[in-house]
Amino acid sequence: MKALLATEPGVARLTDLPDPRPGTGEVVVRVRVALTCGTDLKLLRRGHPKFPFPVILGHEFAGEVVAVGEDASWQPGDLVTAAVSAPCGECGECRAGRENLCPFGFETPVWGAFAEFIKVSARATGRSLYEIPDGLPLHAAALLDPLASVVRGVNRLPSSSGTFLIAGTGPVAFLMAFVVRHEFPGSHIEIRGRRTSRLEPFARHGFTTRTLEDGAGKGLFDAVIDTTGSPHLCSDLLARVARGGTLQLFAGMARDVNVVFPAFVLHYEEVNVMGSFHYRPAEAARALTLLSERTIPFDEIVTVFRPLHEYEAAFSEVTAGTVLKTALIP
Ligand SMILES: [Zn+2]
Ligand SMILES: [Zn+2]
Repeated sequence: MKALLATEPGVARLTDLPDPRPGTGEVVVRVRVALTCGTDLKLLRRGHPKFPFPVILGHEFAGEVVAVGEDASWQPGDLVTAAVSAPCGECGECRAGRENLCPFGFETPVWGAFAEFIKVSARATGRSLYEIPDGLPLHAAALLDPLASVVRGVNRLPSSSGTFLIAGTGPVAFLMAFVVRHEFPGSHIEIRGRRTSRLEPFARHGFTTRTLEDGAGKGLFDAVIDTTGSPHLCSDLLARVARGGTLQLFAGMARDVNVVFPAFVLHYEEVNVMGSFHYRPAEAARALTLLSERTIPFDEIVTVFRPLHEYEAAFSEVTAGTVLKTALIP
């Protein structure tokens, strides 16, 4: 099969690899659509602690089960999408309902979707594959992974929140805006980004938008959510949190990054700073429901379709920010 194999930082090539064959409990899925994601680009640029080189890129996908190992509970022809991790179900974190923090969740990830086929491990076959609801397009179902992360982030915000500031204008910010609007009806949602052109899709949907430099609108928010992962924005964002409010560092930062917060604000203003990592199976299922209920305008996120061999063009348009997500078709 053809697969986009990354072999070292900055180097990825379409490579011929043997077609995967399912072992006991495993299934092989023919990838019909796989979406670009910043995580793949970051992995390619600087490597990833959970996915050492060589590694096939791509992890947001939908496709069709084409081969089934012994004891696997799927049939050829089933249309599926997947969560990336496969929590063990037995450790302390899993039993406490924090499967997103399972230390074994990434032992057999569902990863490597920029390829004609992807093999799903026995553990992931039982826990991480989802049947695509009738009528949901495959490029929409492929949004399960990023949307589930966003659902997790929104779940972690206090239910009393009524005003929200989202920093960033990428696909995660776009998903976040719609999930917040859906889960907190009647709330005020403001999006802050650097470029007016990237704020336009948010404005079109009735969200308040401002550039980062815009001095006007210095209001405070119950919840401020960072989707940019830029450490230098943190103190500005903390300053926008109302007393008793929350700053959520949704986007990950590199391991060696330290951020300093004034203890005064954390103590006397009871501002909470929290992260949000990945998602639990319940949030993956919820994401699929939100997609099939058309809560998310997915056709405005995945707007460009290209054959897999045009991956370089896909990566550059996503990096340039002219497209939120490009679908690659193997
Ligand atoms: Zn992703
Ligand atoms: Zn576990």
